[in-house]
Amino acid sequence: MRILLQFPEGLKPKALQWARKLSQEGHEVFLSARPSYGACDLALEEAKAVGAEKLIHFGHAPFPKGRVEGIEVEYVVEREELSPQDMERIASSLWKVGAARVTLTAVVQYTQALGRLKAFLGGRGIEAEVRRGVLAVEEGQLLGCDGSAGEGEGELLFIGDGLFHPTAVPYREGRRYFAYNPREGRFYEVTERVRAHHRRRRASVLRAYDGKRFGILVSTKSGQFALSAALSVKRELEGRGKEAYIIVGDELIPTSVSNFTFVDVFITTACPRIADDRENYAKPVLDLHQFRQLKALWDGKGLDGPTPAP
Ligand code: SF4
Repeated sequence: MRILLQFPEGLKPKALQWARKLSQEGHEVFLSARPSYGACDLALEEAKAVGAEKLIHFGHAPFPKGRVEGIEVEYVVEREELSPQDMERIASSLWKVGAARVTLTAVVQYTQALGRLKAFLGGRGIEAEVRRGVLAVEEGQLLGCDGSAGEGEGELLFIGDGLFHPTAVPYREGRRYFAYNPREGRFYEVTERVRAHHRRRRASVLRAYDGKRFGILVSTKSGQFALSAALSVKRELEGRGKEAYIIVGDELIPTSVSNFTFVDVFITTACPRIADDRENYAKPVLDLHQFRQLKALWDGKGLDGPTPAP
């Protein structure tokens, strides 16, 4: 079988072992160089170009948005375990900070460990819950574009590294946000970082208030393509007397769109985390949730007025 392998940057060194294994099994193997940010970004064009019958996408669980036709897609996630020492460290750290109730979340590599962690914490007098997010396929899984698995009454605990995933969880005043990095065996609080992230999002909405010309970003990536949402945003803006232009591309990065210098505000219907690169766009970039907030603001309802969930 002709197979194309696609890896996120950090896993590309592992391509050798997979390519060797599959070649020895008699398959004709190709490697995709396409950068891969998530399972929303499948190397379908490359697969088509080389006539692959199957695409193996590494590092991410399936993404429920978008349709894939004409090719078999297999997702491979290398699972990681939490050791007994990790569990002990987490329980004692939660005790130390006085967190008696937590919502457990993780990057997909660790989601299968959350059930055991929940039971372990229960045995230590800490009430833990694991919830399913809107776009997640696994319990407790956080995505950069869907932090709803992290909502809940108690404090948040995220298992994984970096701030990309925990900052996707909606911020609630008075709640504390914690992270545990199993590779480093480190437990730490990220409340201030989550709060700062949400403050910057609010500031972007305020900066967009006086915008007159809008650029609506549509990505052709398999799980991000949302043309009907873009058309509806365009109609909405034009109905409010604004100018709106739809900008279509695969890779929507600052260098590819910021030369549309006439645009005052970008609205992304693609990956909402494009907006994290706000310094390089030098213009406000709003996702669809922030666009709803902007409309509420224009309608005099205030930034914290009722807005639908993402
Ligand atoms: S955060 Fe962006 S790159 Fe990641 S899965 Fe969501 S849409 Fe894709």
